[in-house]
Amino acid sequence: MNCIFCAIAAGDVPSASLYEDGRVAAFLDIQPLAPGHALVVPKKHAAKLEDASPEDRRAVMDAVAMLAPILCKETGMPDATIAIHNGKAAGQEVAHLHVHIVPRKPGDGAGPIHAMFPAPQKVPSEQLHDLAVRVQGALSRRR
Ligand code: 5GP
Ligand code: ZN
Repeated sequence: MNCIFCAIAAGDVPSASLYEDGRVAAFLDIQPLAPGHALVVPKKHAAKLEDASPEDRRAVMDAVAMLAPILCKETGMPDATIAIHNGKAAGQEVAHLHVHIVPRKPGDGAGPIHAMFPAPQKVPSEQLHDLAVRVQGALSRRR
C-alpha cells in the first residue's frame, strides 16, 4: 500500500520525529498551522479511528496526552486544538489515522471548531432525544 504515514512510521521517509514506541509514531507536520503542529499516528495502518485496534487507539491517545503539553510549553503556547479529520468528508487528506496537535494562543485568529460551520441553531429537545434513542438502540444491538 502506498501510504505516506506508513512510510514515515517505518522510517522509510524522513520526518521531524518527536516520539515512537511499539505502536505509535509522532512527528511534526510538514506544513504547520502553528509552531509545534504535530501528528500522532498508529504504526499499523488504519484509515479511520474505528479501524484501529483498541490497543492502538489507546496508545495514540496516550501519546497525544503526553506530547500536547510538551509541545505547548516548548512553543510558548498555553493550549492546543486536538483534532481528527475522520474520513474524507470531514477533511481527511491522508487516509491513515492521525491526530493533529495544534498549539494555540489567544488571538491566533483560528477560533473554536464551531467557527468551521454555519451558525449553529438550537433544535427541539424531542429531536435530540429521538436521535439519542436511535443511537442507544444501535449500541445495544452491537453488544
Ligand atoms: P488531514 O487533512 O489528512 O487531516 O491532514 C494531513 C496532514 O498531513 C496535513 O496537515 C499535512 O500538512 C500533513 N502531511 C502531509 N504529507 C506529509 C508528509 O509527508 N510529512 C509530514 N510531516 N506531514 C505531512
Ligand atoms: Zn498507512
